[in-house]
Amino acid sequence: MPEKNLTELRDELEHINASLLELLSRRARVVTEVQRLKAQKNMPTFDPEREMKMLQELVARNPGPFPDETVRRLFKEIFRACVELMQRQKERALLVSRASRAEDLVVRVRGRELGAAPFVIAGPCAVESEEQLEAVAQQAKALGCQLLRGGAFKPRTSPYAFQGLGAPGLELLRRVARRHDMVTVSEVMDTRQVALLAEYVDVLQVGSRNMYNYPLLRELGKARRPVLLKRGLSATLEEFLWAAEYVASEGNDQLILCERGIRTFETETRNTLDLSAVALLRQKSYLPVVVDVSHAAGRKDILAALGRAALAAGASGLMVEVHPCPAVARSDSQQQLDLEEFAEFMASVGLARRLHAAAGAND
Ligand code: PEP
Ligand code: MN
Repeated sequence: MPEKNLTELRDELEHINASLLELLSRRARVVTEVQRLKAQKNMPTFDPEREMKMLQELVARNPGPFPDETVRRLFKEIFRACVELMQRQKERALLVSRASRAEDLVVRVRGRELGAAPFVIAGPCAVESEEQLEAVAQQAKALGCQLLRGGAFKPRTSPYAFQGLGAPGLELLRRVARRHDMVTVSEVMDTRQVALLAEYVDVLQVGSRNMYNYPLLRELGKARRPVLLKRGLSATLEEFLWAAEYVASEGNDQLILCERGIRTFETETRNTLDLSAVALLRQKSYLPVVVDVSHAAGRKDILAALGRAALAAGASGLMVEVHPCPAVARSDSQQQLDLEEFAEFMASVGLARRLHAAAGAND
């Protein structure tokens, strides 16, 4: 047989490439089917033992000229691509994942569009009195903040510590917020509180300690109020998104995710602000992400730096605790900003003028 010339050999290579691609795509389709069955049986996506066995079998039947190591490397890469495909498929199953919706969610509440432009949720750790709330609301509104926070049901480490004013606290929060045309945010701790909170509050907050409270999440899925879901103290991002999925799966996709720092070995800060989480959540999900700098740091002196970093990492908004007289606050007194520090914070994160101009444009 006459020897093939260069053009013929190149043609042959192109045909082989096309066949390889065809085979790889066929493999990917089979893998997709495997993943579907695995998901039904709740089996893990990656099975290292099976992968090792397949590699051994391939090496055993290696016809050459590639050395065994090259065969191993090539197939490992193919397996990795297939596992990635399975993982994407798993994520696609989530209602809250970016794969189910490409564009960012904008949560509309009382005429505000949260997620369309940066926003700030400011207010005391706990609602304590009308005077306290009034002072914070006035300052917040003057600085362009549209959302007023304040806990009426407080999850405290000690059962003997101040637990919040309860229902009267919600009434106070609503009254002061309405006076200043602000949106209210307050924590709901229990399924039995959902109806009450939904009556008084615009955005229902799930605290860090309750991220795994699945009955509560399901109940909030039925509420007709946006939900601000805080990340659990040591929750992985996967667990965090599954928690959001609980709410969405019951029909409420008006969700805001909140990174508030996670437990680490560090003791200089109350928690460690996980900025990777902000960037990754924005990548994995279309939900707006808020960063609570106060609970992340547990101190005041680095809040502005954390706020700037959070916005740079892709956060849609910030949460910050403010009290007219932090020294006498009934909870979290060491981390709440006073009114002047709050104004400095807003200027330092670069939002004071921006929010003010936006609020003016709304009027
Ligand atoms: C809060 O925001 O009031 C609060 C208790 O925060 P966390 O749930 O993040 O601890
Ligand atoms: Mn607090």
